Amino acid sequence: MIPAGYAAARMHALLLAVLAAASLPAHVLPGELRVEKLSNGVTVALVAFPANGVVAFDTLIRAGARDERDTTGVAHLVEHLLFRGTARVPEAELKRRLQALAVDANGETDEDYTLFSSVAPEGSLPELIQLEAERLQHARISAADVVDEAGSVEGEQAVRAADSEQALAAALQAATFRGRPHRHDPLGTAADIHNLGKAADAAQRFYAAHYRPEAVTLIVSGAFDVDAVLAEIARAYGGWRGAAITEGAPAKFERHTAVRVAGQVDGSAAALFGFSIPPAAHARQLAAAELIAELLGGPLSKLSLGPGEQIEASIEPRRDPSLLGLMLTAPDAARLAVLESRFRSSVEDLRAGRIDREQLEQVRRALLWNEVARLQTPAAVARALAIHAAATGRPTGLDEVFAGIRAIDVAEVASFARECLELP
Ligand SMILES: [Zn+2]
Repeated sequence: MIPAGYAAARMHALLLAVLAAASLPAHVLPGELRVEKLSNGVTVALVAFPANGVVAFDTLIRAGARDERDTTGVAHLVEHLLFRGTARVPEAELKRRLQALAVDANGETDEDYTLFSSVAPEGSLPELIQLEAERLQHARISAADVVDEAGSVEGEQAVRAADSEQALAAALQAATFRGRPHRHDPLGTAADIHNLGKAADAAQRFYAAHYRPEAVTLIVSGAFDVDAVLAEIARAYGGWRGAAITEGAPAKFERHTAVRVAGQVDGSAAALFGFSIPPAAHARQLAAAELIAELLGGPLSKLSLGPGEQIEASIEPRRDPSLLGLMLTAPDAARLAVLESRFRSSVEDLRAGRIDREQLEQVRRALLWNEVARLQTPAAVARALAIHAAATGRPTGLDEVFAGIRAIDVAEVASFARECLELP
């Protein structure tokens, strides 16, 4: 027989769990995700939702700085060159037509991906799809354009180099991934950027190797008709041929020893810890890392902070083993040392499973609702889908990570902490 008090306590705990679950959002995406594949390998991810007549159309290439061979910076260079138009639609005409369609177009290059994003009125979508298909499949990589773009890349690098937080993050990357391709900024090394004007051949090779149907995911989100857009995409991309890319086995989790680097950030004393986390293909483990980043370094952290002290967590879904970064800053070195010892005992608490259930529920709730709030515009939805698709290799990556954030319990957080949060 179960004692009455025990049964009541159990009932109470059950009720609390039900209430906590009820206060979580049902989905993070504002509409249902539909995934299709063209016969040539192009993946299409669609999320239709009411968005005031606005639609986002993004093109994800699952290749970035990590895929560069001899010359760093060419992934980013090729991204710039795609805005230079094609033989059929030269740059000036491309710009004019995009503007006439009221399209806002952008590009970005990171380690794992190159992303072309456009936002437009729904009525512009058919012609936008044609223009995007044209420049993706028929980019012109001329020596003159390469020289020109190399100049603007040097300008971008100068802006980044002036940022002291970026500099400390770069030192951490360099200390962790010695001799690895992703030890440098996705923009390229300073030396390679300086010579980028001569990289036309390398850019041509990168474009030929990576701008292929199998590496492309098209993402449409916001106000549009799913069937009409799928037909439009099949017309514009269906005839594109490319030799199949043979992908290697998914990256193994090569653990790197946790690293600590210290320095100055904006005049404060700073220590930056980097803990090695598994490739994002393991979506559930990425979810555990996201929870831990919040438990340790978010506003709900138990770490008490004095005036002028700060802790900040950073984590990015990556295709390769990557880093959970925790940056501690304090007004001076003595205060930083005290903060650091408190931080170290918080980490030990997590590893030992001393985790406050209520804090975990609050963190989970905040992460899910913050994501729902973020994913209210077509552009934000498309970018979030793209980044997670690039890192996990699956267009459903975003949903998988948030399903993990919803489900992971104290024991799983502790076991992840024991595996990945060994203090340097
Ligand atoms: Zn750029």
